[in-house]
Amino acid sequence: MADNRLRSIVIVGGGTAGWMAAAALIERFGANRHTRITLVESPEIGTVGVGEATVPHIREFLKHLKINEVDFVKRTSATFKLAIGFEGWAGEGTQFFHPFSEHGVPLLGTSFQHYWVKARGLGKADVIDRYVLSSELARAGKFAVPKSNDGKGFLYFNYALHFDATLVARYLKSWSMTAGVKHVEGKVGNVRLHGETGFVEALELDGGREIQGDLFIDCSGFQGVLIEKALGTGYEDWTHWLPCDRAVAMPCESRVAPPSYTRSIASQAGWQWRIPLQHRVGNGYVYCSRYLSEDGAIAALRKGVEGPALGEPRVLPFRTGVRRKIWNRNVFCLGLASGFLEPLESTSIYLVQRGLQYLLGSFPQARSNLALQENVNQRNRAHWDHIRDFIVLHYKLNKREGEPFWDECRHMSIPDSLTETIELFRETGRFRQDAIEFFRASSWLAMFAGFGLLPRYYSPSVDDVPEADLVKEFENMAAGIASAVAKAPSHEEFIRTNCLANLPVQAAANS
Ligand SMILES: Cc1cc2nc3c(=O)[nH]c(=O)nc-3n(C[C@H](O)[C@H](O)[C@H](O)COP(=O)(O)OP(=O)(O)OC[C@H]3O[C@@H](n4cnc5c(N)ncnc54)[C@H](O)[C@@H]3O)c2cc1C
Repeated sequence: MADNRLRSIVIVGGGTAGWMAAAALIERFGANRHTRITLVESPEIGTVGVGEATVPHIREFLKHLKINEVDFVKRTSATFKLAIGFEGWAGEGTQFFHPFSEHGVPLLGTSFQHYWVKARGLGKADVIDRYVLSSELARAGKFAVPKSNDGKGFLYFNYALHFDATLVARYLKSWSMTAGVKHVEGKVGNVRLHGETGFVEALELDGGREIQGDLFIDCSGFQGVLIEKALGTGYEDWTHWLPCDRAVAMPCESRVAPPSYTRSIASQAGWQWRIPLQHRVGNGYVYCSRYLSEDGAIAALRKGVEGPALGEPRVLPFRTGVRRKIWNRNVFCLGLASGFLEPLESTSIYLVQRGLQYLLGSFPQARSNLALQENVNQRNRAHWDHIRDFIVLHYKLNKREGEPFWDECRHMSIPDSLTETIELFRETGRFRQDAIEFFRASSWLAMFAGFGLLPRYYSPSVDDVPEADLVKEFENMAAGIASAVAKAPSHEEFIRTNCLANLPVQAAANS
């Protein structure tokens, strides 16, 4: 049998996606020395440099690479994230959380929300956030490491990180190069394709250099140098469901204690993010250019930030949608080259991670395998659709009546899959199985409850529990959570005690 292993993998792009790919690939192939891994990037083009809020899966990525989380937190100036706090989405003055944990506990095998709906109807239960430890910790500005109880029970929660994207790329670069990734600086110009197969054979760099490879990973950002410019793979536009098409980003000095959650603040024509880091705050306004000018967005952002600006506002245009294939011929794309979903649920970096799982889990051989490619493309696409639906939900259920952008979003048509998810919950308080793949039932519940969409009927088994017992259950849960919150340190104190950033002066200044 011929040796079917790949000899050379070339990554184009040295942003978060490129260095995550380099680290994951060298971790997999570092030991065998049969497969060379090269990363080429153009310092002249630069990286997007935003992308500072994550979901808990990032910690699994670090763990897989055997990167010490405390060291990573210190060197990327990270803070901890228990939830996303949505402000003003359900109307001016409202706030609710999307936490990284379950709500309450099931009773007699029936999900929490059925009991909560009944108790709420009787006036015996509070808003849903009171039954989620991480939401309550976030509300109180506190943080603690969850006690290990296998992810079960109402005192368990999960968490993610907020970090400085530039420092993360730097960290992963140093890690990957130490492990054996070859780094080349240069701008990819022409891409040479094989005359018959159309596979990429080589990249021609400025200065006449050339890089050959068997497999190419396109992490070149929005323009997709290989996947789109060279292979013309195609892009499916989702702007009709997610109408925001610009972001303006501007970091500022920290003036208040860092919250242990990402703030998402509904604004005139979109929403603003606030991401606390140890040495600054990341701020941005994601907006729809049909409803707000660039100057208007910059002015609104400047007005709302908590401290003096660190640099000028940077406008980033984007088009929400997905690349038609994540894997085409011998090119696999990741990061912004594979599509863009706005950062409302901090899913882009996670999608890089997921793409890498598809790649490593179905690893290509030297000979092409179309059935495998097709399978990966379908699975990846289903995953993007799932995340898209969850993000569209935020706009569809908004309660900002009388504001043109938000009125349009409330009245827009939505994907059929999302309509089914909403209607099933509205009627029965249940979730479609295929809708809870990444965003689990608790995530959907947080959004439905936050927007005040409650099911018409709860499960009949709830009525088997005597009312007095039901009330007691809710009191116990709320008391258990309140007691755990009271014992936890503030987020600021937790960081000071355990993982204060030790940034080189130059890195902090440049990031
Ligand atoms: C406004 C905004 C906010 C975001 N917020 C979040 C968030 O909170 N959480 C999250 O998970 N994600 C977020 N993201 C997404 C996140 O920033 C990206 O997923 C992540 O940074 C990965 O980017 P990238 O590496 O694909 O691309 P980039 O950072 O654009 O890097 C592209 C790389 O390709 C190189 N390159 C390009 N062309 C060439 C060429 N011809 N030759 C050689 N090299 C080339 C560049 O030099 C660069 O190194 C956000 C994105 C935006 C736009």
